[in-house]
Amino acid sequence: MQAAAAVAEQWAACADVLVEARAFPDVFTDLPLTAPDAVEFAVRAAVADLGVRLGVSARVVREQAHLAELLMVRAPTVWAYFREGELTAGHARVVADLLTGLPQDCWASLQEQVVARRALPVGRFRAQLRLVVAKLNPVDLAAAHQSAAMSRSVWIEPDRDGMALFIQRLPEQVAYRAYRHVDHLARRQARVPGECRTLPQLRADTAGDLLAGSLTARTGVGVTVAVTVPVQSLLGHSEQPGTLDGVIPIDAHTARELASHAPSFFRILTDPISSAVLDVDRDSYRPPADMDRLVRTLSPSCDFPGCGAPARACDLDHIQDWRHGGTTSVINLQPLCRDHHRLKHNSRWTVTRDPEPGHPPSNPHRTTWTSPTGHTRTNDPPPF
Ligand SMILES: [Zn+2]
Repeated sequence: MQAAAAVAEQWAACADVLVEARAFPDVFTDLPLTAPDAVEFAVRAAVADLGVRLGVSARVVREQAHLAELLMVRAPTVWAYFREGELTAGHARVVADLLTGLPQDCWASLQEQVVARRALPVGRFRAQLRLVVAKLNPVDLAAAHQSAAMSRSVWIEPDRDGMALFIQRLPEQVAYRAYRHVDHLARRQARVPGECRTLPQLRADTAGDLLAGSLTARTGVGVTVAVTVPVQSLLGHSEQPGTLDGVIPIDAHTARELASHAPSFFRILTDPISSAVLDVDRDSYRPPADMDRLVRTLSPSCDFPGCGAPARACDLDHIQDWRHGGTTSVINLQPLCRDHHRLKHNSRWTVTRDPEPGHPPSNPHRTTWTSPTGHTRTNDPPPF
């Protein structure tokens, strides 16, 4: 039960940090406090700050803050049990879920029922309390659906081994219609002679193609993939593995094949001598295409601590502001997703590029981020 208390502690910390950021925005942002989005950026910076400390995403910090605030206000007794470790986080989530959208005059009655049933396992606890809520507050199902539909959204969750989950929250009927459409197309493709993909694979490929707006993306036509191959391996002197897009390890043989044959691959040879190219400064603000690609390959994802947004979808940020003398060079550029790019420019989060001890300054460097409250986190570039 100590675990539950620790979770409650974390939820409370998340709620506190939001309150603090709203009360003292100048701690977190250097925007003038009269700016319309000063408080919003202060909250974002504070949420990112706590997220980095706890090792969770900004989304999780906001969700936990929301849960804590909801329980503190609407069910203080339940919150107290949770903080004492007398109620698990699973139970607390169920209660918060049931309280969402419940009219204020029902809060106290629900809380009584929760306390009476708190020893039940979480599944039965949820089932019984749903009935309680249905009696306390007989809902208009259409209205309930309408308000639930407000939360429709799309998001990505990184998975292992170069995979990611693409998730859509949709009204049920739209979701089923979409699934039937994808299934229909996949089954049609499955009848094509020579097609050897399984039905689940075909559905995934079809849905991916439809959403990516391209039926050629999967085959690689028109898509540039960077293949990194150690120069010794290319020459056949070593079996050191290479990478695809800086993240997916490939064996030396495959790396050699790709690097020598495929015209749509952008080749990067890694060798202590070749790093000289990293030092080329350009006069323009906008990096040329080859530099752009190289930066995104050296840092395959958004450089903000803990962010997994793929570099392909990121902005390139000048670590040292271009207007303040920062150069457009591989060393001074980093990929940042739009959210973290805006956060960097509108809050007291700062970033520096640190020379790696023992390496010449022309090598890929790592960056150190400092949060508004002085917490630092170092990002090592991926190994090549
Ligand atoms: Zn990011």
